[in-house]
Amino acid sequence: MNEEGKYLGHVKKNHLYGHMRAARAYGLMSHAVRRKVGAILVLPNGLTAQGYNGTPKGHPNACEGEDGLTLPTVIHAEDNAYRKLEEAGVDPSGAFVFCTDAACSNCASIIVEKGAKFFMYERPYKVEDGIVKMLLKGIRVFQMEDASGSEVWITEVTLNREDWSLVFGEPYTVSIR
Ligand SMILES: [Zn+2]
Repeated sequence: MNEEGKYLGHVKKNHLYGHMRAARAYGLMSHAVRRKVGAILVLPNGLTAQGYNGTPKGHPNACEGEDGLTLPTVIHAEDNAYRKLEEAGVDPSGAFVFCTDAACSNCASIIVEKGAKFFMYERPYKVEDGIVKMLLKGIRVFQMEDASGSEVWITEVTLNREDWSLVFGEPYTVSIR
């Protein structure tokens, strides 16, 4: 556990909250009614890409159909951020992925395929198989919780390989300044 030192992977610990706040800010731009999700990818060289859940270019912005359910055409936040890197021809490998929400199974597959090393989220998702998938591929997963105005709680999530349940480690605080 990299609890000591100034960095978690290639990201400065006192920047973790800033990246998550940026993910939140992008999530707020989503037209989705059910769940607004934002994601920030931080590459090992420090470049970032942003995404939020939304419909493809040229489609109406509404993310839900008349039944109120999310349209199958909606592209998730993490996917949108990775698509930007792809369009720009940027190598996505080794990313630290910040997302307001735990990844779904489909996004977890994309995150694994793109060679991410770290995934940090705030809100849990109704199913955990996305997190399980990332952990099985060696991605380190963390949950962030706001502690106070000057620090956040970080919990590393690991896998119990007996029953595939998630294990939440002892939270530790990180200064955000
Ligand atoms: Zn997803």
